[in-house]
Parts: sequence; structure tokens; C-alpha cells
Amino acid sequence: MSAQKKDIKGESEKAEGKKKGSFLDVFRYREIKEKDIEDLVEELRYQLLESDVSFDVTEKFLADIKNALLGKRIKRSEDVEEILRDTLKKSITEILTKNENINLIDLIRKSQKPFVIVFFGVNGVGKTTTIAKVIYMLKKNGLTCIVSASDTFRAAAQEQLSIHAQKLEVPIVKGKYGGDPAAVAFDAIQSAKSRGIDVVLIDTAGRMNTDTDLTNELRRLMKIAKPNFRILVLDSLGGNDTLEQAKYFENAIGFDAVILTKVDADAKGGVVLSLAYELSKPVIFLGVGQEYEKLQPFSADWFVERLFNS
Ligand code: GDP
Repeated sequence: MSAQKKDIKGESEKAEGKKKGSFLDVFRYREIKEKDIEDLVEELRYQLLESDVSFDVTEKFLADIKNALLGKRIKRSEDVEEILRDTLKKSITEILTKNENINLIDLIRKSQKPFVIVFFGVNGVGKTTTIAKVIYMLKKNGLTCIVSASDTFRAAAQEQLSIHAQKLEVPIVKGKYGGDPAAVAFDAIQSAKSRGIDVVLIDTAGRMNTDTDLTNELRRLMKIAKPNFRILVLDSLGGNDTLEQAKYFENAIGFDAVILTKVDADAKGGVVLSLAYELSKPVIFLGVGQEYEKLQPFSADWFVERLFNS
């Protein structure tokens, strides 16, 4: 944010141009004072919290913005509200674009075969549906896939994934109910190697932070599968709990990127900002419906538009 601050000051100096120091400046310019932005900052605070940006992140953001703006010289004709909103938009875009550069398809094409992706998340967030959507997208890009049904904890999960695999015409490796999830993943990877398959997608059991056994099991699976990419699936409707889930998974296992689901269901998705600001984690795709094609790449501009205009 200090770069941003420098920039803003720099711009105002430019705006002052040659006229700096002129006697008439006092009529043309004025400094932004606390009272000019107080009400607007309060309104923005409400808007950010309403959009599920976490409380801490909202406070940090607004403090940065205030620092950047207070004392800034502006033309008397300029609208402070517009300046404040523009500054916030710019700084949100800056934070989000820092993390925006992962292109999963390119990453897969550049890596050795098979490219192994592990998916994890809490039950009900949309993990199974998301895996199916990712398979659909990979296939559309000409990549071959195999699925590892490593959620051996819930019999229904294997069934659900099998139905998707059948519809999408991709092979699936299943384990026995209560069996070793890491062994299932190992078999799927071996199978991919022998058949020249491009991508292995590993489903895992949904778990909460209280499930120590399941977490240890996931750590073991990671050691054995050695994934190229770890995706945490989060539900945009989860409110503040969503960021807590991300923190938990980051500490317990670590992850490379997030897919945020159910963004179609009236969520503004402020958690995207909290993830970028607090954990430096990118959201790479958004789930925007139940059908296979309802997965869209994340873009900072899309997010900013949604936050301010809907
Ligand atoms: P899992 O327990 O995490 O594997 O969750 P599921 O994949 O079974 O999904 C739970 C529910 O969320 C299902 O009814 C899905 O159809 C629904 N779902 C998943 N992703 C989305 C999405 O992006 N938008 C909407 N509207 N529903 C979704």
C-alpha cells in the first residue's frame, strides 16, 4: 500500500503542475481532511462487511485508504466520494492481480505427465461438483483425465463421483469403504502413468478442523501422491467461516489456490479479498451454477464490478 500511497501523492503533485506555489492555489486546491471522508469511509465499511470481506481485512483496507488520502491536495471541483471509490477500486485490483497469474491449463501442459491435483474442503461446499466441472474443462482443452475417489469415508461420495465419471467418460479408481485413501490415489497415479493420461484428479473426504484423524490421513495422502497442485474448495455462502476454513487448511496442509463455489447464489464473494489480503492465496475459478460448464476463470475486474455495482 505504500507504493499506492506514493503514487497518489505523485499524481497530485503532477496535477498541481507548474502552478505550484501560486497565490491563487488556495482557491483552486484544497486538502482532503478527516471530516470529508468520515461518512464515506463508514459507508464503505458497511459495504465491504456486507459483501463478506472479513472484519480485520476491512479495517486494514480502510486504514490504508485513509492514509493514502488524508492530506492529499485536490481541485476544489473534484468529488471526494469519487476519489475515495476510485482509490479503493485501484487498491483492490492491485491486491487481486498480484495473485491472478495462475493458468492451470498452461501449468499442466508445461509439466510432466501425469499432473496430479488434490481437491479438499469441508463437506457440502461443492467439492465433488467442482471436480466434475474441472474434468469437463480439462477435456474441452484436449487433456485426458483419471479420477481417484479417495473419499473412502463416505460411501455416497464414491457413488456420486462415479456418476460424474461415467457421464464425463473418464476412468475412476475407487477404494473399499473405510479403505486407505492414499492407496487409492497411488493406484490412480500408477494407472495414469501406464496409460499416458495427462491429469489425475484426487477427491478427498470433506473434513472440519476437529477431524484430527482425517487431517492426518490427508497429510499422509499428500506425502504419497506428491501433488503438483492443491486446490481448496470453498463455499462463497459460508460467510466468515470460509476464511477460517482457509486458515485451517493452510496451517494443516497448505494449498496453492482456491475454487470458490456457489457465486451464482447471490453471494458477493468478499472472501476473495480476504484470501488475497490475509493469506496471499489466489482464487482461480468460480463456480457459478450446478452444471458442468458453470465454472469461470476468476478476474479481478469482475470482482470489483460486482462489489461496487450490484
Ligand atoms: P461436496 O459435499 O463438497 O462434494 O458437495 P457437492 O459437490 O455434493 O455439492 C453440494 C451441493 O452444492 C450440490 O447440490 C451441488 O449441486 C451444489 N453446488 C456445487 N457447486 C455449485 C455452484 O457453483 N452453484 C450452485 N448454485 N450450486 C452448487
